[in-house]
Amino acid sequence: MPATCPCRALDEHKPSYAQCCQPFHLGCQDKTVLPETAEALMRSRYSAFVLLLEQYLLDTWHESTRPQDLQLDEELEWTGLEIIKTRSGGAQASRGVVEFAAHYGRGANAGSQHEVSTFVKEDGAWYYVDAL
Ligand SMILES: [Zn+2]
Repeated sequence: MPATCPCRALDEHKPSYAQCCQPFHLGCQDKTVLPETAEALMRSRYSAFVLLLEQYLLDTWHESTRPQDLQLDEELEWTGLEIIKTRSGGAQASRGVVEFAAHYGRGANAGSQHEVSTFVKEDGAWYYVDAL
């Protein structure tokens, strides 16, 4: 288990995985612990990419756009998540838009995936829909 939560690797304040995304990963199946905001779901999905939690990614993917299955690239080394702008998706919202950059690799192999993601909340649970 990582000491620092993967989604906070670039932050000054680095909470542990147990204090950040792990409760969402553990509570997803029975929906006991849910991210309050679209950004929190975004963070937990990034951490799930890092930790290869394919089931969590599928469970938090809206059924309208969810792939049949997911093959994560185990070779890809994610190095941090940068939330560029949360346009919407607060605790009271039902739709969210979050712009982020997910960084990977080191040295000459480093790069980043820049995306504006959309989210929807149904029955109190946020889901990833797609990229704008
Ligand atoms: Zn986290």
